[in-house]
Amino acid sequence: MTLHWKLTTTDGAARAGTLMTAHGEVPTPVFMPVGTAGTVKAMTADAVRSTGARMVLGNTYHLMLRPGAERVARLGGLHRMMDWHGPILTDSGGFQVMSLNDLRKMDADGVTFRSHVDGSYHRLTPERSVEIQRLLGADVTMCFDECTPFPATPDQAAESMRLSMRWAARSREAFVPREGHGLFGIVQGSIYDELRAESAAALTSIGFEGYAVGGLAVGEGQAEMLRVLDVTLPLLPAAAPRYLMGVGTPSDLIGAVRRGIDMFDCVIPTRSGRTGRAYTSRGVLNMRNARHAEDPSALDPECDCPTCRRHSRAYLHHLFKAEEMLGPILLTWHNLRYYQSVMERLRGAIVEGRFEAEAAAIEAGWAEGEAERKAA
Ligand SMILES: [Zn+2]
Repeated sequence: MTLHWKLTTTDGAARAGTLMTAHGEVPTPVFMPVGTAGTVKAMTADAVRSTGARMVLGNTYHLMLRPGAERVARLGGLHRMMDWHGPILTDSGGFQVMSLNDLRKMDADGVTFRSHVDGSYHRLTPERSVEIQRLLGADVTMCFDECTPFPATPDQAAESMRLSMRWAARSREAFVPREGHGLFGIVQGSIYDELRAESAAALTSIGFEGYAVGGLAVGEGQAEMLRVLDVTLPLLPAAAPRYLMGVGTPSDLIGAVRRGIDMFDCVIPTRSGRTGRAYTSRGVLNMRNARHAEDPSALDPECDCPTCRRHSRAYLHHLFKAEEMLGPILLTWHNLRYYQSVMERLRGAIVEGRFEAEAAAIEAGWAEGEAERKAA
């Protein structure tokens, strides 16, 4: 009935599978570009599709404030409004609301906050968050939770996690099951193993179509993040998809896929694309750097995106120096294509039972590029 994930094969702990939704099937592991306010910034929906992306993320917080969830529903839902016909995952709004420090007031029932747009008052509860995500038309709805700040003491982390678990049960109650649609629970507990275990047990006893790991990539560092995954993932049902929220760099993706994560979202490729940072098969490049001013070569010779096939590093450098809007467009396009190509390589390698060799080859490319730039 609801939403399904089918395991194709494993290689070590890494998994290749297929997520089956109301808007089509998605091979996993999958990276979802972030379409914050009903758009993946700087990209048309056709451009996003051309990068190989099969699923995108929408933000409840931004869309409830502007244009408003009921308005999106009257316009035919988020898929129709943004011309995206593949699956959409929406976050719960919790993460953005919690980061509004001065503009929010939390209680056991939910959060009251002031809009950063016009100062108007709004309220989010687990029930309202799930309702908004239904109005948007989300294929995957996320439980409303509190993203525990980092660092947190064990007591603070426990209190925050237990509140999120109560809200998870209320989110489950509020969710209306529909074919091809599902609700994901979110494991919290900061960096504390016992709390992560308690959270995983609480969620699996409620039962969800998928399980997310939240509260990571908030300053704990990559090694600690991967350690929390080592502790948490074996406690989640093997038959359900696992989603690492808000992560990360290409290196983070490799480390998390290795441990059994199936789904990712992150603003890094799009945000970096707007500021001149390029993720490539030869590592990270800053296109504002003067070293690119007369370089006629492609941004990434191994990449098949329009930016790399048609334009030079020198042109990209010029666009960023001149603050032309085409610079962010071309670099976002490339970064999203690069992220998709990494996921395609990792998935193909899992299917063929050579994940570690492929991961090592990708990492060797970054290291060689870095060494070349240091020597130049
Ligand atoms: Zn490219």
